[in-house]
Amino acid sequence: MVNLLQHPLAAHIITHLRDRTTKPATFRTLAYQLSLLLAIDATRDLSVEEKPIETPMEPVVGRVLAHQPIVVVPILRAGLCMTQPFLDVFPDVSVGYIGLERDHETARARTYYCKLPRLEGRSVFVVDPMLATGGSAVQALSLVKQHGGIGAKLVSIVAAPEGVDAMEKNHPDVAIHVAALDRALDSRKYIVPGLGDFGDRLYAT
Ligand code: URA
Repeated sequence: MVNLLQHPLAAHIITHLRDRTTKPATFRTLAYQLSLLLAIDATRDLSVEEKPIETPMEPVVGRVLAHQPIVVVPILRAGLCMTQPFLDVFPDVSVGYIGLERDHETARARTYYCKLPRLEGRSVFVVDPMLATGGSAVQALSLVKQHGGIGAKLVSIVAAPEGVDAMEKNHPDVAIHVAALDRALDSRKYIVPGLGDFGDRLYAT
């Protein structure tokens, strides 16, 4: 299931991210801001519990996040920029890392690094800004499931239909949160209209 973030601020930010004249420093700030909006949207079903407190005026029963730690799993390297927003706003967050590279013989994503904390009983969010062919996301979600992650979500900034199809075929149980659903992939597997190579624009490489 794809959840498209619909907010005027998200539209504003993604337009500036797409703009080829946006410089890396601004690109990083915008990526942070949009990832924060996505993090808020993707966590709207976190459990809460009642907590009686006293305001300076009177007692009241408030609500706080139930004890359910969050695990954010960036796919290296571009996913790193989507991690800090989770750390900045949620009280109990662990981070795992998955490094994938394309195997030129098989054309499949090969895992070169996988360091995951305990996933059982935690809300897991795999983050990767560009859901292009879906190869990396499918592989990352398989690793998360093998390590005990149940009910994980995928959070991306831009998705191509091909990536969404691959996720829905391989992981129909995984909710996908995105800020834009683009037209297609080009012959080099870049998303169009897209925003180019996210990692290169983020890290000025
Ligand atoms: N990764 C990117 O950074 N950009 C694309 O368009 C596709 C994959």
